[in-house]
Amino acid sequence: MKKLTVLGATGSIGVSTLDVVARHPDRFEIVALTGNSRVEVLYEQCLRHRPRYAVVGREEDAASLTTRLREAGLATEMLAGPAALEFVAALPEVDAVMAAIVGAAGLQPTLAAVHAGKQVLLANKEALVMAGHLFMAEVEAHGAVLLPIDSEHNAVFQSLPADYAGQPARAGVSKILLTASGGPFRDVPLERLKSVTPEEACAHPNWSMGRKISVDSATMMNKGLEVIEAHWLFGVAAEQIEVVVHPQSVIHSLVQYVDGSVLAELGNPDMRTPIAHALAWPERIDSGVAPLDLPAIARLDFEQPDFARFPCLALAYRALAAGGDAAAVLNAANEVAVEAFLAGRLPYLGISEVIAATLDAMPVEEMPDLAAILAADAQARAIASEMLLRYER
Ligand code: NAD
Ligand code: MG
Repeated sequence: MKKLTVLGATGSIGVSTLDVVARHPDRFEIVALTGNSRVEVLYEQCLRHRPRYAVVGREEDAASLTTRLREAGLATEMLAGPAALEFVAALPEVDAVMAAIVGAAGLQPTLAAVHAGKQVLLANKEALVMAGHLFMAEVEAHGAVLLPIDSEHNAVFQSLPADYAGQPARAGVSKILLTASGGPFRDVPLERLKSVTPEEACAHPNWSMGRKISVDSATMMNKGLEVIEAHWLFGVAAEQIEVVVHPQSVIHSLVQYVDGSVLAELGNPDMRTPIAHALAWPERIDSGVAPLDLPAIARLDFEQPDFARFPCLALAYRALAAGGDAAAVLNAANEVAVEAFLAGRLPYLGISEVIAATLDAMPVEEMPDLAAILAADAQARAIASEMLLRYER
């Protein structure tokens, strides 16, 4: 039995994870589940998976859920708050932690799992973007095993040799090609981008995801964060990471080798494939995903990304080149801007403007420790929030 903690169980990745887990009751056991505000969903998940622990954001919710779980005959211990997230991420009886909290809130719980030497199934790309150098050093120091859940990175992982060990030159890797769908705004007239709504931004053509990552996909900041994620996960320089727009999302990413070979992973766009891959790794299990029907797909298209249409992609390359805490600043400003856009307080085109202005306003700190990263995150949020005022009418 593989024992699991699922951080962010109530989100899109969390729900898909529990769907795969439920198909294999002989293999997986849920020890802990966490959610933030979707308390009803967490309650139903507890009834179904009977975890030893469950964590919510607020003490009041923990108290009321405890009462309801006892009435239902469950002994699940309810906890609340950030310290509890770290606690369930590091439980001695847990083998693997699905890190699927969205945004910077996932950094410390994910690091706690790394510290405890767990197998870490990493969906929370923001954690790696914010603190890549610390994160990878901790993985090394504590013998943690990182398995990428992001479909692109999972595809790259599957297309690299098993003994790759972060050494592209030794493995003959010349490039990592990250595919991008281009999102819902790939070919809307540029003029229209001034007035696109959160609903339009969240209507992704291929993937069903949480709202924050959906907006990130629309701006292509998601791909920018993924370039930074690939840099840390696979030890490749920015110049060796190329983004290719591929609207069908069938090829999830590729690895190009010095001899001209290009290896890729293909599949239907359903996150249960990378989730099942990482849950069972190095074995293979059924994920519930329909087999790929190539004749039905008929064609695969590719084009270069349009950096003028998607300035966020260039901003991410800029932050990666700047190094230090710049990616943490980029991430924090993006989280503030996306939240404001979703709340109707910032126009779509304001997202990249707020991020660029925040990067401009903050000098780069070269080798930040965790405290310095958290401080940069807080300062960037304050600066970005102030910039939002310019857009208020
Ligand atoms: P989501 O919004 O659907 O779910 C987010 C989860 O995080 C929820 O369980 C929520 O309760 C929890 N959460 C949010 N704020 C929290 C806080 N302050 N404290 C504790 N928990 C909190 O998001 P998602 O789409 O499932 O994405 C999760 C992560 O996976 C993100 O980092 C995203 O970039 C990454 N990812 C998602 C997909 C996808 O298809 N959805 C694909 C690749 C990567
Ligand atoms: Mg992805």
